Parts: sequence; structure tokens; C-alpha cells
Amino acid sequence: MNRVHLLPSLDAHAHFRPGRTPAELAPAGAVLAMTGSLDEAAQAVGRRDALVAWGVGCHPRVPRAQAGFDRDRFAGLVARTAIIGEIGLDSGARIPLDTQLRTFRAALEVVAELPRVVSIHSYRATGLVLEELRRRPVAVPVLHWWTGTAPETRLAVSLGCYFSVHSQVARRSQFRTAVPAERVLVESDHGWADPPAAIPCRVEWVEHLMGQQLRLDAAQVRRLAWRNLGALVDQTGVRELLPPGMAAILDRVAAETVPPVAKQMPLPTG
Ligand SMILES: [Zn+2]
Repeated sequence: MNRVHLLPSLDAHAHFRPGRTPAELAPAGAVLAMTGSLDEAAQAVGRRDALVAWGVGCHPRVPRAQAGFDRDRFAGLVARTAIIGEIGLDSGARIPLDTQLRTFRAALEVVAELPRVVSIHSYRATGLVLEELRRRPVAVPVLHWWTGTAPETRLAVSLGCYFSVHSQVARRSQFRTAVPAERVLVESDHGWADPPAAIPCRVEWVEHLMGQQLRLDAAQVRRLAWRNLGALVDQTGVRELLPPGMAAILDRVAAETVPPVAKQMPLPTG
């Protein structure tokens, strides 16, 4: 946290080894931490970090994770956390799409019963992911590192999707023309082997890039991201499952009297 920001950085999609110590994770700020497999998730969801919320995931690019997916085990882990991720589809992966689809559909069935904040991977599969979300609507899908076309983006907005924006895609015009500011989160997709302390800098860079798109300063983008996470938590009813520090910040942001920051843009209809 620097002097400009009254709120810690909020990273909506990063990867940590579940064996990291709380001291190692402390400089990372607030993070929605993804797992790649149910084994990894089983280690992670029992942790009690102040600002790191751990997800239950089955990554579409990890063969062992896909082979080991079990719907009941997934549901049991999901019951213990506010976040699901990383799940999704990837047509560039060497895992057959049928296998990926079986996992993704089973996961969405669970989310339909247990609403959660769901971080979704869609590399080279943006249309396919949207098709699945249309078949099985869930609360609440967050499209991570989104690369869809403008029509796909408008469809995603109409399906209720949020977007966690990575620096590699933050300059895409869709985030200015098709996505309401109220649907934006910021992410690093920081990797397992990367130092957690680098996350606040990476998040701040995305905040500057998104600030250009939304005509806000970086501190306003940060506040917006916290408010948007608050809306996701309200929609899914998972507040009690959040780390205490994160829940306290959401309460503080919700109580603020600062007028909401919103882009002057009507919601797309198509
Ligand atoms: Zn990821």
C-alpha cells in the first residue's frame, strides 16, 4: 500500500503454491488465489490467511488435474471456500476437449447449486466458454484474461459475466466500449514461482492501464475493483467464507460515502 492508496491492492487471479507461509504471502496484498488441481485445492482451502482467498480449481491445461477430477470431491471443497478457480476450457491444450468439457460442465453444475465467485480460463475457447455459460447460467462467472471478440464480449456482458483484466489485455478497446466499469476486476495471473511481493506493483500497472480506458485515476480503479468484488460477494452470498481481513475491507468500502465511480456508458443490450 502506498500513500496514494487507502486500500490494499486487489488481485482477482494469481497462483501461489499452497505451501507458502503466511509471512511470504503478506506482501502480496489481497488476492484471489487460484489452484490448478483438487489435490492443490485440498491443501489450500483449510488455510486461514488474512487477505488471501483460496479457490478450488481444475486447470484445463493440467492433464493430471483433469484426469483426477471428481465432482463430489470438488463439491466438498467448494463448500468450504468463496472462490472457484481456475476452471475453464483451452483449445490450445493437449487434453482432449471432451475431457475438458466434462470437467467444466460438472463444475458449473456444482456452482449452480453452490453460488461462488468463479474465475474462468478461456484461452482460444472464448466462444465455447460462453456457449457453456449460456447452457448452464451460474452466479457469478468472472472471465479471466479475456480475449474474446467485441460481439463475444457483449454476449458475455449480457450473460452477467465480470472480467478480471490482465496487463496483456488491458488496452483492448472492448474494455472501454463493451464492458461496464461495474464489471471490471484487476488481475496479475502471477505464477507459482514468482515472488508474492511483486503482486502489488503488477496490479498497480493494470490499474493505470484500465484508468486510461475508464478515464479514472489508478486509486479510483482500485476502489472500483473493491466495490465490484463486493457486488460479487453480495450476489453469491459468500461473505462468511471470505478471509476476515478481506471481508472487513469490503464492509469499509460498502460504508463509504464517496459517490460511486461509474463510467458514463449505457449497459450494452445485445
Ligand atoms: Zn491462472
